[in-house]
Amino acid sequence: MFIAIDAGATYIRVANASSPNSTEFTQRSILSTKNNYEEDLTQITDSIHSLTNEPVKKIGIAVASVLNEEKNELIFANNIPAWTKKPLKQDLENEFKTEVIIENDVAAATLGESLVNTDSKSFLFISWGSGIGGAFAKHVDNKYEIMSSELGHQIVEINGRECSCGQNGCLETYCGGAFIKKFSGKMAKDLDQESWEEIEEKFSLGLTNLIAILLPEKITFAGGVALDNENRLEEIRKKISKTLKVYPLPEIEISKNRENFGLVGALSLLRD
Ligand SMILES: [Zn+2]
Repeated sequence: MFIAIDAGATYIRVANASSPNSTEFTQRSILSTKNNYEEDLTQITDSIHSLTNEPVKKIGIAVASVLNEEKNELIFANNIPAWTKKPLKQDLENEFKTEVIIENDVAAATLGESLVNTDSKSFLFISWGSGIGGAFAKHVDNKYEIMSSELGHQIVEINGRECSCGQNGCLETYCGGAFIKKFSGKMAKDLDQESWEEIEEKFSLGLTNLIAILLPEKITFAGGVALDNENRLEEIRKKISKTLKVYPLPEIEISKNRENFGLVGALSLLRD
């Protein structure tokens, strides 16, 4: 049995699958992130034991953190700070006596996206949840090359809102779920039309910039805000069509992996 773990600031999703090539899971469990490393490790190991009695062949983890080059240490887990510098890979390898592969969540999700998005020469994957992240993937020699970026921290307003990264006016400060909550006190789906106009405006500006630089054939979205507000993607697409003149408007759609995008990414790390 293969185990996939998608660890974020709010939830940790744990699932099992019979093959690392799968995009479907036998069982899933959703845990609340406690941001206490020992407690989180215990609930993850308990959850794996409860999912399967079979031997665990490999474990893949997509985690919201910057990793070191050897991918065995979480250098900076911005949204789960208690996990920073903790030996997550080693601890799980000791417990299950098997190989554990860890990757940054956005990089893993983009890899997972490449499994369901095989018909495009290139695509831009965007995770639109509490924060905004993403990566560009290009088809080369029968596989996708993935280029990570900090696209949520491109500046869309001069001297704009202060961002957690230290810059001002980042895309994330206007469109990220956490900043939307901070400035309006509401979830994105509960905002009025006027507030949405601003969000769509800023996102379409950010995407116009990205399209002009990367020339993607398709843009796919995942993440809580995107999934809760699917109809807004069409509004963003209309706004981009007014600003973008240098390149054809790419297709824009929700990822086929939907809410499983992180888990599919984690599982895809285990493919040979
Ligand atoms: Zn920023």
